[in-house]
Amino acid sequence: MKLIEGAPIAEAVYQECLASFEELKAAGHLPGLAVVLVGDDPASRAYVGSKERKCQELGMHSVKIEKSADTTQEELHAVIDELNADESIHGILVQLPLPKHLNEDEVILRIDPAKDVDGLHPINLGKLAMDDPTGFAPCTPSGCQRMLIESGIETSGQNVVIVGRSLLVGKSLALLMMGKGAGGNATVTVAHSRTRDLKAVTSEADILVAAIGIPKFIGPDHVKEGAVVIDVGINRIEDPTAKRGSRLVGDVDFEAVAEKCSAITPVPGGVGKMTIAMLMANTIRACRMKVGM
Ligand code: NDP
Repeated sequence: MKLIEGAPIAEAVYQECLASFEELKAAGHLPGLAVVLVGDDPASRAYVGSKERKCQELGMHSVKIEKSADTTQEELHAVIDELNADESIHGILVQLPLPKHLNEDEVILRIDPAKDVDGLHPINLGKLAMDDPTGFAPCTPSGCQRMLIESGIETSGQNVVIVGRSLLVGKSLALLMMGKGAGGNATVTVAHSRTRDLKAVTSEADILVAAIGIPKFIGPDHVKEGAVVIDVGINRIEDPTAKRGSRLVGDVDFEAVAEKCSAITPVPGGVGKMTIAMLMANTIRACRMKVGM
């Protein structure tokens, strides 16, 4: 069984980012990312912190905008409008989920699609569906695809089953993997909570992706012998033996499934490492596109 770790693959992405970054810098351009955080959800704050740190490590221009949990829709739109107009900002990411009273779709629609490095604007999702490479694909699904490519796992003609149909992960990954580019050309099935006999469906998968949000949901009975398993899930569970009293687990029961599959991603240390790497890559590409390089 091969362990597909995120760190070395993310590092390869960062090396590409650095090379591109140096070229931009030499031509007098500095890529800039703005991250908008609304409210004080600790997980969101931690994600935003790591995005900011990575920008700084790469030497990119980074701006963090923090708004209180009672920010209105209009106030948030005004923030986006300002960032859209800011020449020093090439990528805008609004950390989701937003507090319940805010309409996420309206906020995403407000972002200039050329700065939508999270790839959730309808223009970018449309480009993804059209196999148009000028768009931005959402970071987590592109990270999953990149892991498969870098690990030398053939996707063309393979049966891929994705459990989870969110726009952020499952549905976008389905579009990527049925696309005609590298890491694509797969026969994709998307399963969800209404899928009948899920185990029968997932057992057909050459490549099984779990993006569900339920700790250790995928067990050995879901997995075909020799399958590749990509675990997108990040769930915090209580663990009195852990230092913090809790630990992170995926949507896959790693120990039980690992012995059945040919390759598997761990949690933590798997897909999670890729999301920020792809965000940096998208931001640098947004800058290149803006300056025509
Ligand atoms: P969502 O809650 O938006 O979607 C979960 C999906 O799982 C839904 O489509 C849902 O079906 C499906 N589902 C729920 N229960 C079942 C079930 N019993 N059987 C089959 N399908 C089921 O979650 P996200 O897509 O945003 O995230 C999924 C996981 O990935 C989470 O653990 C999240 O933390 C993690 N994540 C990790 C990232 C990373 O960087 N590694 C980034 C983003 C997310 P239905 O649509 O019918 O409700």
